[in-house]
Formats: sequence, structure tokens, C-alpha cells
Amino acid sequence: MLRVVVLGAAAGGGVPQWNCGCQVCRKARGEHPELRSTQASIAVSADGENWYLVNASPDLRQQLIATPQLHPKAGTLRHSPIAGVILTNGEIDAVAGLLSMREGSPFAIYAHEKVLAILRDNSIFNVLSDKNVKRVAIAVDRAFDPALPGGAPSGLEILPFTVPGKGAWYLEGKAHPGGDNGAGDTLGLHIRDKASGKHFYFIAACAEVTDTLKSRLTGAPLLFFDGTVWRDDELVVAGLGTKTGKGMGHISMSGAAGAIESLAGLDIDRKIFLHINNSNPALLKSSAERKIAEGAGWQIPADGTEIVL
Ligand SMILES: [Zn+2]
Repeated sequence: MLRVVVLGAAAGGGVPQWNCGCQVCRKARGEHPELRSTQASIAVSADGENWYLVNASPDLRQQLIATPQLHPKAGTLRHSPIAGVILTNGEIDAVAGLLSMREGSPFAIYAHEKVLAILRDNSIFNVLSDKNVKRVAIAVDRAFDPALPGGAPSGLEILPFTVPGKGAWYLEGKAHPGGDNGAGDTLGLHIRDKASGKHFYFIAACAEVTDTLKSRLTGAPLLFFDGTVWRDDELVVAGLGTKTGKGMGHISMSGAAGAIESLAGLDIDRKIFLHINNSNPALLKSSAERKIAEGAGWQIPADGTEIVL
């Protein structure tokens, strides 16, 4: 059995974002609290007892409080069901939550060498001591079985693969501590329960759907996919920023080259958008954009949604 909990579905900043007065953020603060969403992360488990986070968002503390599956076991003084964190990129919304996991419980960080280099380069992450928190390098197209802190198998097999994307925005124009080779900055994951064979894909950042990606995802039972913006120039048109979706390494939901169109007809059983920016009108249940997304078989999840495969 494979269990997945959506800890957060929002892009960087969350919904509402601290300094944003856009319509979605205003509604989320006011009459529509159900719009509130924390920054993107999922938890996955093969046995229902030991869990792995995919990315550790700045909202991790709040997400853990809201998720009983991730609470310390009853009767224990110090314990966490979190056996590890798999990082798919080095953005702040994917790594900052690690700093909330600093109280001495053992777990492992699995990340590409490019992302491990970023952690090494920022000494604040040294608060996670080598003794308790192992950092394990993962490589593109090489499957790995994460082990529990005691060494027992987790029952999971994870295959990282490269997707079109960008390096962390705070490194733009600066030397990347992991070198200039772009590979490894943005990963997709194929996660499989070894006992049952149940599996799904996680791609929270993707700039473009290539033919290679299409063939990989054909027939998938479940896909979490980048839903940052509805249209590429959304932030610019709304006066919220100067960057396009593409400029940030994120495909748009709509348009001929967008996610909805590009991933149509691939026989994917369940399609869930993740990493949805507060500027995206598809967040509003009554919007035309939401109807188009849902009509095409996509789901916009609420935080806390649990899926059992
Ligand atoms: Zn906003």
C-alpha cells in the first residue's frame, strides 16, 4: 500500500502570501478561509508508520501539527515518524523547512549533489548534525531505496529524473555552489511501493512537457504536477511581478503548450496540481479557469488530502 498526504499545495509564499493583496489572498484572509494553503510538500509512506517528506516547506511546522500521521508515537518522549526528506530542488520553499527539524531526531536528507552543495554552502543548515541527519546524494535516472534511520528498508523505491527547469532563483546571476551544469537542479520523482507495485509521479516544478516526459507519464495511476500559474504572463498582467511563469521555470496550466493541453490523452488516472501560486485564478472554485481545469480531469487539492494507492 502506498499512502500520500498533501501537506501543502501552494507555491512559494503560500495562500495568503504575507504581503499580497491580490483577490485570492484577500478572499483567503476574509470570507473564504478554505482558500488558505501552505507551501507545496507531500508525505509518503509504504507502511503507514514511517513517512518521507518530498520537500520541506517553510510551513512545515504548521503542516506537521495538522497531520496526525506525522505526530510522535503515543507514549514516546521524543519521536517522529519522519524517516527522511527527499529534495527535488534547492528553492527556499523546498528546503527552508529543514530548519524546523533541528531537535536531534534522526532522519536522512536525499538530494542531488547540486542541492546538497547549496545546503553545504549555507552554514545555517549545519544545525542538522551529521550524526543524526545523514545527507545522501541521489542521481538522475538511478533508483534508490531509502532506508529507515535504523537501517531497515522503507519499502519504497524512488527514481529521480530530470525535468526542464531552472536553478534556485536566489542564485540567479551568481555562481552555483554545485557548479554550472544545469542537470540536477530540478527533479521529478517516480515513487513506488515495492511490495504492491503501486506507484505515482511527483513533478512540482517543470518548465515544459517534452515528448520524453509524455512517454514517461503515459498510463500513470497518479500524477502531482506543477500548477504554479494559469497563464504565463499572469504575474505581469496582474501587476504582481515582472517574471513570467517560464522565467521562473514553471509551465502554465493553460495554453497550447500548457500542462492541461500537453498532458491530455495520456491515460493518466488521477491528475493533481501542486505548487499553485496565489495569483492563479483556478484556486477560486467559482472561476472559469477552475471549471476548465476540472473539466479536463485535474484536481486542485486542499491541504491534508490523503490518497491511498
Ligand atoms: Zn496574492
